[in-house]
Amino acid sequence: EFTVDPHQVPADADVEASLRPKSLAEFIGQPRVREQLELVLTGAKLRGVPPDHVLLAGPPGLGKTSLSMIIAAELGASIRLTSGPALERAGDLAAILSNLVEGDVLFIDEIHRMARPAEEMLYLAMEDFRVDIVVGKGPGATSIPLDIAPFTLVGATTRSGQLTSPLRDRFGFTAHMEFYAPEELTQVITRSAAILGVQLRPDGATEIARRSRGTPRIANRLLRRVRDFADVRADGSITREVARAALAVYEVDELGLDRLDRSVLGVLCRTFGGGPVGITSLAVAVGEEPSTVEEVCEPFLVRIGLLARTRAGRVATPAAWEHLRLTPPRNAPV
Ligand code: ADP
Repeated sequence: EFTVDPHQVPADADVEASLRPKSLAEFIGQPRVREQLELVLTGAKLRGVPPDHVLLAGPPGLGKTSLSMIIAAELGASIRLTSGPALERAGDLAAILSNLVEGDVLFIDEIHRMARPAEEMLYLAMEDFRVDIVVGKGPGATSIPLDIAPFTLVGATTRSGQLTSPLRDRFGFTAHMEFYAPEELTQVITRSAAILGVQLRPDGATEIARRSRGTPRIANRLLRRVRDFADVRADGSITREVARAALAVYEVDELGLDRLDRSVLGVLCRTFGGGPVGITSLAVAVGEEPSTVEEVCEPFLVRIGLLARTRAGRVATPAAWEHLRLTPPRNAPV
Protein backbone atom coordinates (compact mmCIF):
# COMPACT_ATOMS: atom_id res chain seq x y z
CA GLU A 1 0.00 0.00 0.00
CA PHE A 2 1.50 3.32 -1.07
CA THR A 3 1.46 6.16 1.40
CA VAL A 4 2.86 9.67 1.26
CA ASP A 5 3.03 9.97 5.02
CA PRO A 6 6.77 10.26 5.77
CA HIS A 7 6.23 8.75 9.23
CA GLN A 8 4.92 5.54 7.72
CA VAL A 9 8.26 3.84 7.29
CA PRO A 10 7.77 0.12 6.84
CA ALA A 11 9.09 -1.80 9.82
CA ASP A 12 11.86 -4.23 9.09
CA ALA A 13 9.39 -7.04 9.70
CA ASP A 14 7.34 -5.93 6.70
CA VAL A 15 10.45 -5.69 4.56
CA GLU A 16 11.45 -9.16 5.66
CA ALA A 17 8.04 -10.48 4.67
CA SER A 18 8.35 -8.89 1.23
CA LEU A 19 11.62 -10.74 0.75
CA ARG A 20 10.25 -14.19 1.50
CA PRO A 21 10.39 -16.61 -1.42
CA LYS A 22 6.84 -17.63 -2.37
CA SER A 23 7.38 -21.05 -4.00
CA LEU A 24 9.78 -23.98 -3.81
CA ALA A 25 11.21 -22.92 -7.17
CA GLU A 26 11.97 -19.46 -5.78
CA PHE A 27 13.55 -20.89 -2.63
CA ILE A 28 17.32 -20.62 -2.98
CA GLY A 29 19.72 -23.28 -1.68
CA GLN A 30 18.91 -26.28 0.57
CA PRO A 31 18.80 -28.56 -2.52
CA ARG A 32 18.33 -31.73 -0.48
CA VAL A 33 15.49 -30.33 1.63
CA ARG A 34 13.80 -28.93 -1.46
CA GLU A 35 13.97 -32.27 -3.27
CA GLN A 36 12.69 -34.21 -0.25
CA LEU A 37 9.87 -31.79 0.36
CA GLU A 38 8.90 -31.76 -3.30
CA LEU A 39 8.43 -35.54 -3.13
CA VAL A 40 6.43 -35.38 0.09
CA LEU A 41 4.12 -32.70 -1.30
CA THR A 42 3.71 -34.18 -4.76
CA GLY A 43 3.05 -37.65 -3.31
CA ALA A 44 0.31 -36.29 -1.09
CA LYS A 45 -1.22 -34.29 -3.94
CA LEU A 46 -1.28 -37.42 -6.14
CA ARG A 47 -3.14 -39.31 -3.46
CA GLY A 48 -5.40 -36.38 -2.64
CA VAL A 49 -4.64 -36.42 1.10
CA PRO A 50 -2.90 -33.92 3.39
CA PRO A 51 0.83 -34.71 3.57
CA ASP A 52 2.48 -36.13 6.66
CA HIS A 53 3.48 -33.73 9.40
CA VAL A 54 6.80 -32.01 8.68
CA LEU A 55 9.51 -30.94 11.12
CA LEU A 56 11.94 -28.24 10.02
CA ALA A 57 15.11 -28.25 12.09
CA GLY A 58 17.97 -25.77 12.01
CA PRO A 59 19.38 -22.49 13.32
CA PRO A 60 17.30 -19.28 13.21
CA GLY A 61 17.00 -17.33 9.96
CA LEU A 62 17.58 -20.23 7.55
CA GLY A 63 14.09 -20.13 6.06
CA LYS A 64 11.91 -22.38 8.22
CA THR A 65 8.96 -19.96 8.42
CA SER A 66 9.32 -19.20 4.72
CA LEU A 67 9.26 -22.92 3.90
CA SER A 68 6.15 -23.48 5.99
CA MET A 69 4.36 -20.79 4.00
CA ILE A 70 5.64 -22.34 0.78
CA ILE A 71 4.32 -25.75 1.86
CA ALA A 72 0.86 -24.22 2.32
CA ALA A 73 1.10 -22.34 -0.98
CA GLU A 74 2.22 -25.45 -2.88
CA LEU A 75 -0.75 -27.36 -1.42
CA GLY A 76 -3.15 -24.51 -2.13
CA ALA A 77 -3.96 -24.55 1.59
CA SER A 78 -4.36 -21.87 4.25
CA ILE A 79 -1.81 -21.55 7.01
CA ARG A 80 -2.22 -20.77 10.71
CA LEU A 81 0.92 -19.53 12.43
CA THR A 82 1.66 -19.88 16.12
CA SER A 83 4.61 -20.70 18.35
CA GLY A 84 5.50 -23.03 21.20
CA PRO A 85 5.80 -20.28 23.83
CA ALA A 86 2.34 -18.93 22.82
CA LEU A 87 0.77 -22.30 23.62
CA GLU A 88 1.06 -22.11 27.36
CA ARG A 89 -2.22 -23.80 28.14
CA ALA A 90 -3.72 -26.79 26.38
CA GLY A 91 -6.84 -24.66 25.85
CA ASP A 92 -4.89 -22.27 23.62
CA LEU A 93 -3.99 -25.15 21.35
CA ALA A 94 -7.47 -26.69 21.51
CA ALA A 95 -8.95 -23.41 20.25
CA ILE A 96 -6.61 -23.35 17.28
CA LEU A 97 -7.01 -27.04 16.45
CA SER A 98 -10.80 -26.99 16.57
CA ASN A 99 -10.89 -24.07 14.15
CA LEU A 100 -8.81 -25.77 11.47
CA VAL A 101 -10.38 -26.50 8.11
CA GLU A 102 -9.58 -29.73 6.24
CA GLY A 103 -6.18 -29.54 4.57
CA ASP A 104 -4.98 -26.50 6.54
CA VAL A 105 -1.34 -26.15 7.45
CA LEU A 106 -0.65 -25.38 11.11
CA PHE A 107 2.79 -23.88 11.70
CA ILE A 108 4.23 -24.04 15.22
CA ASP A 109 7.51 -22.17 15.52
CA GLU A 110 9.87 -23.09 18.36
CA ILE A 111 7.85 -26.22 18.89
CA HIS A 112 10.38 -27.50 21.46
CA ARG A 113 9.21 -24.75 23.82
CA MET A 114 5.59 -25.85 23.97
CA ALA A 115 4.19 -26.52 27.45
CA ARG A 116 3.72 -30.18 28.37
CA PRO A 117 -0.14 -30.29 28.45
CA ALA A 118 -0.31 -28.66 25.01
CA GLU A 119 2.28 -31.08 23.71
CA GLU A 120 0.30 -34.04 24.98
CA MET A 121 -2.83 -32.72 23.32
CA LEU A 122 -0.87 -32.40 20.10
CA TYR A 123 0.05 -36.12 20.07
CA LEU A 124 -3.56 -37.18 19.67
CA ALA A 125 -4.31 -34.38 17.23
CA MET A 126 -1.38 -35.34 15.01
CA GLU A 127 -2.13 -39.03 15.08
CA ASP A 128 -5.91 -39.31 15.10
CA PHE A 129 -7.09 -35.76 14.31
CA ARG A 130 -8.84 -35.70 17.65
CA VAL A 131 -8.60 -33.62 20.82
CA ASP A 132 -9.84 -34.38 24.28
CA ILE A 133 -11.40 -31.30 25.80
CA VAL A 134 -11.37 -31.42 29.58
CA VAL A 135 -14.47 -29.91 31.15
CA GLY A 136 -14.57 -29.03 34.82
CA LYS A 137 -11.96 -29.45 37.53
CA GLY A 138 -10.93 -32.01 40.11
CA PRO A 139 -12.68 -35.38 40.50
CA GLY A 140 -15.74 -34.19 38.59
CA ALA A 141 -13.77 -33.35 35.47
CA THR A 142 -14.67 -35.19 32.30
CA SER A 143 -13.05 -35.23 28.95
CA ILE A 144 -14.99 -34.85 25.75
CA PRO A 145 -13.42 -36.21 22.58
CA LEU A 146 -13.76 -33.92 19.60
CA ASP A 147 -12.90 -34.66 15.99
CA ILE A 148 -10.83 -32.06 14.21
CA ALA A 149 -10.22 -31.59 10.49
CA PRO A 150 -7.29 -33.50 8.97
CA PHE A 151 -4.44 -31.00 8.79
CA THR A 152 -0.70 -30.90 8.29
CA LEU A 153 1.47 -29.76 11.14
CA VAL A 154 4.68 -28.00 10.23
CA GLY A 155 6.88 -27.65 13.29
CA ALA A 156 10.05 -25.60 13.38
CA THR A 157 12.81 -25.98 15.92
CA THR A 158 16.28 -24.66 16.53
CA ARG A 159 16.80 -27.53 18.98
CA SER A 160 15.66 -30.80 17.49
CA GLY A 161 17.57 -32.61 20.25
CA GLN A 162 15.24 -31.05 22.82
CA LEU A 163 12.11 -32.51 21.26
CA THR A 164 10.61 -35.35 23.24
CA SER A 165 10.67 -38.60 21.33
CA PRO A 166 6.88 -39.08 21.25
CA LEU A 167 6.60 -35.73 19.51
CA ARG A 168 9.51 -36.37 17.15
CA ASP A 169 8.10 -39.78 16.22
CA ARG A 170 4.85 -38.23 15.03
CA PHE A 171 6.48 -36.30 12.23
CA GLY A 172 6.56 -38.18 8.94
CA PHE A 173 9.48 -36.17 7.66
CA THR A 174 12.23 -34.06 9.21
CA ALA A 175 14.09 -31.53 7.09
CA HIS A 176 17.51 -30.62 8.41
CA MET A 177 18.35 -27.12 7.22
CA GLU A 178 22.03 -26.34 6.70
CA PHE A 179 23.89 -23.04 6.72
CA TYR A 180 23.97 -21.56 3.21
CA ALA A 181 27.06 -21.45 1.01
CA PRO A 182 28.36 -17.96 0.12
CA GLU A 183 27.28 -18.43 -3.53
CA GLU A 184 23.72 -19.19 -2.39
CA LEU A 185 23.69 -16.12 -0.16
CA THR A 186 24.94 -14.06 -3.10
CA GLN A 187 21.81 -15.21 -4.95
CA VAL A 188 19.60 -14.36 -1.96
CA ILE A 189 21.11 -10.87 -1.73
CA THR A 190 20.89 -10.25 -5.47
CA ARG A 191 17.24 -11.27 -5.46
CA SER A 192 16.45 -9.08 -2.45
CA ALA A 193 18.25 -6.09 -3.97
CA ALA A 194 16.08 -6.44 -7.08
CA ILE A 195 12.90 -6.53 -4.96
CA LEU A 196 13.98 -3.53 -2.87
CA GLY A 197 15.28 -1.59 -5.87
CA VAL A 198 18.81 -1.40 -4.49
CA GLN A 199 21.74 -0.83 -6.87
CA LEU A 200 24.04 -3.70 -6.13
CA ARG A 201 27.26 -4.61 -7.95
CA PRO A 202 28.25 -8.30 -8.09
CA ASP A 203 31.38 -7.67 -6.00
CA GLY A 204 29.24 -5.89 -3.40
CA ALA A 205 26.90 -8.89 -3.26
CA THR A 206 29.75 -11.36 -2.73
CA GLU A 207 31.25 -9.21 0.00
CA ILE A 208 27.97 -9.08 1.94
CA ALA A 209 27.34 -12.81 1.32
CA ARG A 210 30.75 -13.75 2.67
CA ARG A 211 29.97 -12.03 5.96
CA SER A 212 26.40 -13.22 6.50
CA ARG A 213 27.12 -16.19 8.77
CA GLY A 214 25.58 -18.60 6.28
CA THR A 215 22.14 -17.14 7.10
CA PRO A 216 19.66 -15.52 4.66
CA ARG A 217 18.03 -13.40 7.36
CA ILE A 218 21.41 -11.90 8.22
CA ALA A 219 22.24 -11.45 4.53
CA ASN A 220 19.05 -9.46 4.02
CA ARG A 221 19.65 -7.41 7.15
CA LEU A 222 23.22 -6.57 6.18
CA LEU A 223 22.01 -5.64 2.71
CA ARG A 224 19.64 -3.08 4.24
CA ARG A 225 22.34 -1.63 6.50
CA VAL A 226 24.84 -1.42 3.64
CA ARG A 227 22.16 0.22 1.54
CA ASP A 228 21.76 2.93 4.21
CA PHE A 229 25.49 3.54 4.10
CA ALA A 230 25.51 3.61 0.29
CA ASP A 231 22.67 6.15 0.22
CA VAL A 232 24.08 8.39 2.96
CA ARG A 233 27.82 8.23 2.45
CA ALA A 234 28.21 7.14 -1.18
CA ASP A 235 26.31 7.46 -4.46
CA GLY A 236 23.70 4.81 -3.57
CA SER A 237 25.42 1.99 -5.38
CA ILE A 238 26.76 -0.96 -3.37
CA THR A 239 30.27 -1.87 -4.46
CA ARG A 240 32.78 -4.05 -2.63
CA GLU A 241 34.41 -0.97 -1.05
CA VAL A 242 31.06 0.45 0.06
CA ALA A 243 30.11 -2.90 1.58
CA ARG A 244 33.41 -3.19 3.43
CA ALA A 245 33.21 0.34 4.81
CA ALA A 246 29.59 -0.10 5.87
CA LEU A 247 30.18 -3.43 7.60
CA ALA A 248 33.11 -1.93 9.50
CA VAL A 249 30.71 0.69 10.89
CA TYR A 250 28.31 -2.04 11.99
CA GLU A 251 31.15 -4.05 13.55
CA VAL A 252 30.66 -7.09 11.36
CA ASP A 253 34.11 -8.56 10.84
CA GLU A 254 35.78 -10.42 7.97
CA LEU A 255 34.26 -13.72 9.04
CA GLY A 256 30.84 -12.20 9.58
CA LEU A 257 31.13 -12.33 13.37
CA ASP A 258 29.24 -9.60 15.16
CA ARG A 259 29.82 -8.08 18.59
CA LEU A 260 28.16 -10.90 20.47
CA ASP A 261 30.07 -13.63 18.62
CA ARG A 262 33.34 -11.86 19.31
CA SER A 263 32.37 -11.20 22.87
CA VAL A 264 31.67 -14.92 23.41
CA LEU A 265 35.02 -15.87 21.91
CA GLY A 266 36.80 -13.07 23.78
CA VAL A 267 35.39 -14.17 27.14
CA LEU A 268 36.15 -17.80 26.36
CA CYS A 269 39.80 -16.99 25.64
CA ARG A 270 40.50 -14.12 28.03
CA THR A 271 38.39 -14.96 31.05
CA PHE A 272 38.33 -18.73 30.84
CA GLY A 273 41.76 -19.29 29.28
CA GLY A 274 40.22 -21.04 26.27
CA GLY A 275 37.91 -23.32 28.26
CA PRO A 276 36.52 -25.82 28.78
CA VAL A 277 33.62 -23.85 30.20
CA GLY A 278 29.90 -24.53 30.48
CA ILE A 279 27.44 -22.67 28.27
CA THR A 280 25.75 -21.01 31.26
CA SER A 281 28.97 -19.52 32.66
CA LEU A 282 29.87 -18.33 29.20
CA ALA A 283 26.46 -16.70 28.71
CA VAL A 284 26.52 -15.04 32.14
CA ALA A 285 29.96 -13.62 31.40
CA VAL A 286 28.75 -11.98 28.18
CA GLY A 287 25.44 -10.90 29.73
CA GLU A 288 23.23 -12.97 27.43
CA GLU A 289 20.65 -15.70 27.79
CA PRO A 290 22.24 -19.16 27.59
CA SER A 291 19.71 -20.09 24.90
CA THR A 292 20.83 -17.16 22.70
CA VAL A 293 24.46 -18.13 23.02
CA GLU A 294 23.65 -21.76 22.41
CA GLU A 295 21.17 -21.38 19.55
CA VAL A 296 22.40 -18.24 17.79
CA CYS A 297 26.16 -17.88 18.32
CA GLU A 298 27.39 -21.36 18.93
CA PRO A 299 26.22 -23.26 15.83
CA PHE A 300 28.01 -20.86 13.53
CA LEU A 301 31.17 -20.64 15.63
CA VAL A 302 31.31 -24.44 15.66
CA ARG A 303 30.62 -24.59 11.95
CA ILE A 304 33.51 -22.27 11.05
CA GLY A 305 35.82 -24.06 13.45
CA LEU A 306 36.36 -21.37 16.09
CA LEU A 307 34.64 -23.18 18.92
CA ALA A 308 34.47 -26.83 19.85
CA ARG A 309 31.99 -28.58 22.10
CA THR A 310 33.62 -31.16 24.31
CA ARG A 311 32.17 -33.26 27.07
CA ALA A 312 33.82 -30.95 29.60
CA GLY A 313 32.45 -27.77 28.00
CA ARG A 314 33.10 -25.21 25.28
CA VAL A 315 36.65 -24.81 24.08
CA ALA A 316 38.34 -22.20 21.87
CA THR A 317 40.20 -23.67 18.89
CA PRO A 318 43.61 -22.41 17.72
CA ALA A 319 41.75 -20.58 14.91
CA ALA A 320 39.78 -18.64 17.54
CA TRP A 321 42.94 -17.40 19.24
CA GLU A 322 44.32 -16.46 15.86
CA HIS A 323 41.14 -14.64 14.83
CA LEU A 324 41.22 -12.58 18.04
CA ARG A 325 44.97 -12.04 17.52
CA LEU A 326 45.68 -13.54 20.93
CA THR A 327 48.37 -15.99 21.93
CA PRO A 328 46.99 -19.16 23.48
CA PRO A 329 48.50 -20.19 26.82
CA ARG A 330 50.93 -23.12 26.67
CA ASN A 331 48.41 -25.46 28.25
CA ALA A 332 45.50 -24.41 25.99
CA PRO A 333 42.91 -27.21 25.87
CA VAL A 334 42.92 -27.77 22.10
P1 ADP B 1 13.43 -18.99 10.14
O1 ADP B 1 11.96 -19.25 10.26
O2 ADP B 1 14.23 -20.23 9.90
O3 ADP B 1 13.98 -18.19 11.30
P2 ADP B 1 12.64 -17.27 7.92
O4 ADP B 1 11.85 -18.19 7.07
O5 ADP B 1 11.90 -16.29 8.75
O6 ADP B 1 13.67 -18.10 8.83
O7 ADP B 1 13.66 -16.52 6.95
C1 ADP B 1 14.25 -15.30 7.31
C2 ADP B 1 14.38 -14.41 6.09
O8 ADP B 1 15.37 -14.96 5.24
C3 ADP B 1 13.10 -14.34 5.27
O9 ADP B 1 12.60 -13.03 5.31
C4 ADP B 1 13.47 -14.63 3.85
O10 ADP B 1 13.38 -13.45 3.10
C5 ADP B 1 14.92 -14.99 3.88
N1 ADP B 1 15.14 -16.33 3.36
C6 ADP B 1 15.24 -17.46 4.09
N2 ADP B 1 15.50 -18.52 3.30
C7 ADP B 1 15.56 -18.05 2.04
C8 ADP B 1 15.81 -18.67 0.77
N3 ADP B 1 16.08 -19.98 0.69
N4 ADP B 1 15.80 -17.90 -0.31
C9 ADP B 1 15.57 -16.57 -0.20
N5 ADP B 1 15.35 -15.94 0.95
C10 ADP B 1 15.34 -16.65 2.07
